[in-house]
Amino acid sequence: MSLAQAAVDGAEPDELLRLEVPTTYRAAHTLKDEVGMFGPLPHGTDGVDKDVRRSIHVGEVPMPELAPDEVLVAVMASAVNYNTVWSAMFEPIPTFAFLERLGRQGYWGARHNLPRHVLGSDCSGVIVRTGATVRHWRAGDRVVVSTAYIDDQDPIVQHDGMLATDLRAWGFETNFGGLAEFAVVKATQLLPKPRHLSWEEAACNMLCASTAYRMLVGSRGSCMKQGDVVLIWGATGGLGAYGVQLVKNGGGIPVGVVSSERKAELLHRLGCPYVVDRSAFEHLNDEKAWRRLGAEVRRLVGEDPHIVFEHTGRETFGASVYVARKGGSVVTCGSSSGYAHEYDNRHLWMKLKRIIGSHGANYQECHEVNRLFSLGMLQPALSSVYPLDRTGDAARAVQLNQHIGKVGVLGLAPAEDLGIEDYALRERVGEDAIRLFR
Ligand code: NDP
Repeated sequence: MSLAQAAVDGAEPDELLRLEVPTTYRAAHTLKDEVGMFGPLPHGTDGVDKDVRRSIHVGEVPMPELAPDEVLVAVMASAVNYNTVWSAMFEPIPTFAFLERLGRQGYWGARHNLPRHVLGSDCSGVIVRTGATVRHWRAGDRVVVSTAYIDDQDPIVQHDGMLATDLRAWGFETNFGGLAEFAVVKATQLLPKPRHLSWEEAACNMLCASTAYRMLVGSRGSCMKQGDVVLIWGATGGLGAYGVQLVKNGGGIPVGVVSSERKAELLHRLGCPYVVDRSAFEHLNDEKAWRRLGAEVRRLVGEDPHIVFEHTGRETFGASVYVARKGGSVVTCGSSSGYAHEYDNRHLWMKLKRIIGSHGANYQECHEVNRLFSLGMLQPALSSVYPLDRTGDAARAVQLNQHIGKVGVLGLAPAEDLGIEDYALRERVGEDAIRLFR
């Protein structure tokens, strides 16, 4: 029997360790010699469609050697993140530049600098090998993988892992990511898989949910308190779907922004009391439009947002700074519509507002978020699932904003709905809640 099949079948640790690690495995990847394929211009300019289906390939890749602090995971499921789209458009810079830099870091770093980049920053699966210095995990453990790839010998990590000098997003700034049959991860990325979720439901959460957690709840983010009004851009997207749930859990008042009636309806079902349909606003790049947005929020809620949850960037940032209340904050982790923002600084300083930069989440924050999933207090935002061979189509849906929530990809799992262990908890949480986005 193959190691992959044994992992799928739930084989005992001894058997997993007895079976040979394959020399190659299937993985979704980009190719270094295709970096120039879309031309030099940024996506969306000059009518160039940087169709990620052309740049994402699925095929056999060589199995890397395992470093002492790493584990080899037999991937059951993974998910598309927006960084998969960035990688496949080779924007803002080709991710091969990250791999080259990592490649200069000694023997283990050199493994990453390859002519192909195996993508994917989320996964669930079964540990099949552990490196010599891994202490808390063993073969057979069912895990989800968090994204932050951190040097645990860097002193600042004791303060906050996200301040690490050489912080990297696994599967984006490193090789051997999760959109594959096997993945290589550091032991410090591992968390126990929530037992009541299927492989694909467990796989899709960690990157977006933990980022949203740090932005809203974490002590380095906006530290939301009970009763805070929180404006959430892209409220049914990857980050937003978890943002809405976290605001509700913490006693805040979410105001979700979406771009269609279908998404507005889903938001209501998610329990978001206030919804703004941004398609009613032609554009948001002048003060007139910002005022109209602010007036709409006031009409709905009766007051201005304490916090604006930003990741949409250039097209929304001026509005975000404007609509935050006096003394409020804009917390940002991204710039989907462009990263060179413009806003009117008078609204920031005169109204004593703050802009808070946030990135990913440290191991402890990931642990807290995974605990919420394991208790049934956060639900997966999984909307659709693709086989590994169709990773390009899955990423294309996200690139075109045709998706809602998270788009899953099966790795070794032969079908959906496998991997559930705790049916009693699943029943208590409820199928409707767990499958709300499906
Ligand atoms: P998704 O594509 O899943 O969701 C983004 C949502 O934003 C969409 O659903 C869409 O909702 C909305 N949106 C898109 N374009 C615009 C626009 N021009 N104006 C207003 N709303 C818009 O992506 P994610 O939520 O996974 O990620 C969002 C961004 O955050 C990405 O740029 C990603 O790279 C970044 N990110 C950063 C992280 C970090 O650690 N720094 C971690 C995770 C993500 P609708 O059309 O309904 O309004």
